[in-house]
Amino acid sequence: MTHETETMDSAAIKQMAQAHIVNTYGDRSLAIVRGEGAALWDADGHEYLDFFAGIAVASLGHCHPAVTRALQEQAATLLHVSNLYYTEPQALLAKVLCENSFAEKWFFCNSGAEANEAAIKIARRYWVQQKTPKPTIISAEHSFHGRTLGALKATGQPKYQAGFEPMIEGFKYVPYDDIPALQKALTPDVGAVLLEPLQGEGGVRMPSPNYLRDARKTCDTMGVLLILDEVQTGIGRTGKLFAYEHSGITPDIITLAKALGNGVPIGAMGCTDKVATGFSVGSHASTFGGNPLSSAAALAVVTTMIESGLPQQAAATGEYFLSKLRTLKAKHKIITDVRGMGLMIGVELTTPAGPAIGRMLAAGVICGPAGPNVIRFVPPLIVTREQVDRVVATLDAALQEA
Ligand SMILES: *Cc1c(COP(=O)(O)O)cnc(C)c1O
Repeated sequence: MTHETETMDSAAIKQMAQAHIVNTYGDRSLAIVRGEGAALWDADGHEYLDFFAGIAVASLGHCHPAVTRALQEQAATLLHVSNLYYTEPQALLAKVLCENSFAEKWFFCNSGAEANEAAIKIARRYWVQQKTPKPTIISAEHSFHGRTLGALKATGQPKYQAGFEPMIEGFKYVPYDDIPALQKALTPDVGAVLLEPLQGEGGVRMPSPNYLRDARKTCDTMGVLLILDEVQTGIGRTGKLFAYEHSGITPDIITLAKALGNGVPIGAMGCTDKVATGFSVGSHASTFGGNPLSSAAALAVVTTMIESGLPQQAAATGEYFLSKLRTLKAKHKIITDVRGMGLMIGVELTTPAGPAIGRMLAAGVICGPAGPNVIRFVPPLIVTREQVDRVVATLDAALQEA
């Protein structure tokens, strides 16, 4: 058997990957070998400006020294013990998240989908514990909550569910940003409403300014729990540590993942003390959830982000980016909308977004789609105005060619 010790070029990596990996991600154009800040390098030595950050993951920038240091120290101390034991990194992470959010208790897992599974399970079991079972969960059309079977059922986009039937029961969908529809859907069997503060994968869809506040009121009136999926919007992305802070309300349950570990896999479900009683010993668990390594990384991420005022910086850079994109919209008829919050930004086109994203990549800028017609920018929150200018100029040229 051969063992590759030489560094492979992009073509060699691609050939090997295609031969041995289940093809769920399609033909990928790059093989990436290194990252620093907002820069990425492929296996052939080309440099890229990364305005996608994984998918809204590397918010501190690639290989941030504080995260690298925390990982190195923790890896040399204790990588893993099970949740049959306490560990300091997990306790510290939960404490920091409590101090900086509405949540009073946390459960750790490994991904966004798992965080949503925990949210769905605790909501259902909470009402059972209250002796008023209300198993139905309402979520929104065009939402995205992950690919495990429960989170997939909550995802209000039929294309993701096709072929995986039978789906689990007890979910209903309402149009996003439609309070009357939500009110109408809140029948006595409904125990929780699950929403993204703004929709990510569904096309960077922004609700009206009062939507979350009115959804909260509606839930309170009916005695229903509000779950906010902040897997994409959380940890500084929208210009505040959590997107719910823009709305003046708090949810009962929140889910986090993407940026929480800056690339180290970790998910989290936070809730009030009241809701936390929904789980008791043995109700839910995860082998790897909140292990010392991922917790140490996430602790470094959250403390660095708060200490450096990165959410506020993201708010300012995002405003600048949006204003530049609006100027571009006036110039290109192909752009129908520019929207976003902080550094979570969508540019909607009259045409599929793929070709423009491809031309930008060829010009050294990485961005991605959100639905068929929307170009999504979710860069590291550390990006500079000069980098924003370069991306806007590259988009200008890419649309010129269209
Ligand atoms: C990405 C995402 C998920 C799923 O996260 P995974 O880590 O891929 O399981 C869930 N909800 C939202 C809002 C997301 O953006």
